[in-house]
Amino acid sequence: MSEIAEKVFADRVLGKLYGYPQCCVDFYVGSPPDALRRTKGFPGIRLCAKCRDKELEDVVTDLNSRRICPQPFPMGPTEEDYQNLMSDSRFTTDEQAWLLANKNRVVPPEDPFHQLLLDFHRSMNELNANTEASIAAEPHRENFFQAVRELNGDEMIGVVLNRIHKAMHARVVEQVKAGYLKV
Ligand SMILES: [Zn+2]
Repeated sequence: MSEIAEKVFADRVLGKLYGYPQCCVDFYVGSPPDALRRTKGFPGIRLCAKCRDKELEDVVTDLNSRRICPQPFPMGPTEEDYQNLMSDSRFTTDEQAWLLANKNRVVPPEDPFHQLLLDFHRSMNELNANTEASIAAEPHRENFFQAVRELNGDEMIGVVLNRIHKAMHARVVEQVKAGYLKV
């Protein structure tokens, strides 16, 4: 297969995995990168002229109805899903072989910040719920419970900022080492 044919094949397998409409997949593989950049879409897919004006809810419902990926749009397959995808009979033998050889394109790399922010969000919600419950149980201690919430909240924000700062620092060091940044 030529390089271009390989890229088109890969895009079509991924389109099938994610349940993208055939019209949008055809549009995607048939358009130059410049045109795609200017087109409305989502990560990995651009919508064809016919689908562009659809409501987001209709697009999501449509994608999920055709999707082979067990995770709903816009989530990619997990490590566990990946094992089962290989043998899904909706894929041809060639498609299964491609999936097997291209795990890095099928299972999204773990984003440490994504998890970090989700954890942060969950902890903040818990903190707020605990504070409300404490105030409801002992209203005369409200000022104290509010103070505890503020102090704990600040500490959690500090943890998040610290992690982001460290990662940015590591990234700059990487770029300097690779010669992209001059010091
Ligand atoms: Zn379309």
